[in-house]
Amino acid sequence: MVKNQDNAERISFFDIDKLSKKYMKDNEAEVTSNNQRMLKTISVIYFVVIICYNIIVPIFFNEWGVSYIYQIALIVHIVILALVLLRYRKGLRSKREVQIVCAAFQLYVMAFLVIVSLVPFDNGQPAVYFAPIAMGFAVVFIYSFKTAVVLGIVECASLIITTMIFKSDVLFINGFSTILSLVIVIYVVYVVYANRARESKHRKKLRKMGQTDKLTNIYNRAATEMMSQEYIQENRDTKYALMIIDIDEFKSVNDTYGHQTGDKVIQSVAKIIEEAAGTRNIAGRMGGDEFMIFIKGWNTEDDIKEIAAQILRNAQKIEMPDDRVSVSCSIGVCALKEDEWMEYDDMFSCADKALYYIKENGKNCCAFYSKE
Ligand code: GH3
Ligand code: MG
Repeated sequence: MVKNQDNAERISFFDIDKLSKKYMKDNEAEVTSNNQRMLKTISVIYFVVIICYNIIVPIFFNEWGVSYIYQIALIVHIVILALVLLRYRKGLRSKREVQIVCAAFQLYVMAFLVIVSLVPFDNGQPAVYFAPIAMGFAVVFIYSFKTAVVLGIVECASLIITTMIFKSDVLFINGFSTILSLVIVIYVVYVVYANRARESKHRKKLRKMGQTDKLTNIYNRAATEMMSQEYIQENRDTKYALMIIDIDEFKSVNDTYGHQTGDKVIQSVAKIIEEAAGTRNIAGRMGGDEFMIFIKGWNTEDDIKEIAAQILRNAQKIEMPDDRVSVSCSIGVCALKEDEWMEYDDMFSCADKALYYIKENGKNCCAFYSKE
């Protein structure tokens, strides 16, 4: 029955893992820091361009209606924005999100062009409008929401300050619409961010559920095996070890105190094992009263013996309802040096042989596997 439960967990873990692998594949940029760096660079350049044409260009020309300057700036904005959006295609959660962002941007541009042609203001207006909108989209998905807001505010402030310095009515109108459009952008950014955060939380929860053992909340068999195998593949030339821990005479705990107390003992042992493994190594429950620690790197055998000793010592301290039965564990270890290499399954069977040896020779102790 216990085995079945374990099997069910295993299947669900692989299902979820398959899904998350597919998900990761669909969203390569999310994990590719190179892409992130590239996008950040683009948006920083972008930010500088906006600040330049909001402040430096008008001061330099001492005029705000220089149409060709704004036309050029406008083209630069659109090109950079297109670049950012194109690069982001991979980084976004789904194609649908990109479509929504692009559609929103296009709708805005269309509405803006209609308004401008109906009410022909100053020539410089298009560029002023585009600045915050394009800026808003540039920072979407690159920086955190807070950074996006700060960058937007800096840009707005630069507009307001220059408006005040030049005391221009047209600039005042532009400044006002800028703030309005920025608020819309920030709202869109916020909605998308909130959505992403919710999704990733949900995903994390799903993954965690698939990887952990229900009773003890440490890694389950499938997760422990997968992570150990991954480590072995990637660190062939290092020293690592596999330790199997099995509770001695556990049946008598169940028979004497009942299944519930048995469960509590399993939970206590799991805690002890997790503590002894530390954060660097992988601790998991293989099923029933059997646990495993995959030790990522060791210097001398004493490092491993210390972990084993801590488990043996603390297991004996587990409090039982009375003196009829006490808890102890047996431990089998397969430790490999730099020049030795084994598949995970072979390591497991060697550690199991060492465990069997201890079970046959008095229990409550630790043994290392050796060919002899
Ligand atoms: P040994 O010293 O040789 O290991 O003897 P043992 O009695 O511990 O034998 P074994 O490891 O084969 O027995 C494991 C027992 O653990 C069998 C099963 O009834 C019990 N068990 C397995 N899973 C659970 C569980 O989730 N909760 C409880 N309470 N008992 C479990
Ligand atoms: Mg046992």
